[in-house]
Amino acid sequence: RPMIQLRKVTKRYPSGQEALSGVSLRLDAGAMAFLTGHSGAGKSTLLRLIALLERPTRGRLVVNGHELETLPRRRVPHFRRQIGLVFQDHHLLADRSVFDNVALPLAIQAYRQPEIARRVRAALDKVGLLHKERAAPDTLSSGEQQRVGIARAVVHKPAILLADEPTGNLDPELSREIMDLFVQFNQVGTTVLVASHDLDLISRLGKPLVRLHEGRLQRETAGSAA
Ligand code: ADP
Ligand code: ADP
Repeated sequence: RPMIQLRKVTKRYPSGQEALSGVSLRLDAGAMAFLTGHSGAGKSTLLRLIALLERPTRGRLVVNGHELETLPRRRVPHFRRQIGLVFQDHHLLADRSVFDNVALPLAIQAYRQPEIARRVRAALDKVGLLHKERAAPDTLSSGEQQRVGIARAVVHKPAILLADEPTGNLDPELSREIMDLFVQFNQVGTTVLVASHDLDLISRLGKPLVRLHEGRLQRETAGSAA
């Protein structure tokens, strides 16, 4: 079953820059792939289109059964909850504890406090930071901060996890740990797409690579072709 499907997707920004040109791509439910390519190749744009943070200029996107072009506006918040987003900069709130940062996506929904606590602790446990729930983000190492960002992205159990250069600020050892976490979430059923230009790091994981070059799909390995 396709979880993410793009058909001839083109994205041209108001500046005139064509960030993606006729990209077709399919990622099945439960799959994991890496999105790679030089800086400016269109990786972020592709992730932002899947998360509905941007709209395509042309082409079709179907994500977890939702036809994005015709998705009613009132359905967008529900749609976004099916996606967890991890960024290079984790955007943690400095004046809130680790616990409160991870709880943020749940707080805006009508969860009861015990349910929030249960889910937050489950997410922190998965990234190995249960013991840091009371800490302030700036007392953590950069690798730990990124793991808090990942816990926040998965706390609502999204079907899809998207990450944009999640190891961009980390040394090789910490980068491997972060990538291993994504593999673990994939192993329990989450569909994972990670943008990274670090080929040394991602090639050892044996997952399909989707390569972008100047907004065009360059090569895909078997299993991810549309
Ligand atoms: P990558 O993530 O691979 O570095 P991006 O998707 O960020 O690539 O960018 C692809 C191209 O689109 C680049 O030329 C970039 O400058 C341009 N671009 C990205 N975002 C915008 C924007 N909001 N407005 C105009 N151009 C943009
Ligand atoms: P509008 O499109 O009317 O400006 P949206 O609710 O679609 O309002 O989103 C506004 C901005 O909020 C988005 O461009 C995005 O940057 C951010 N945003 C909304 N939902 C999410 C989400 N789930 N994850 C990350 N960023 C989000």
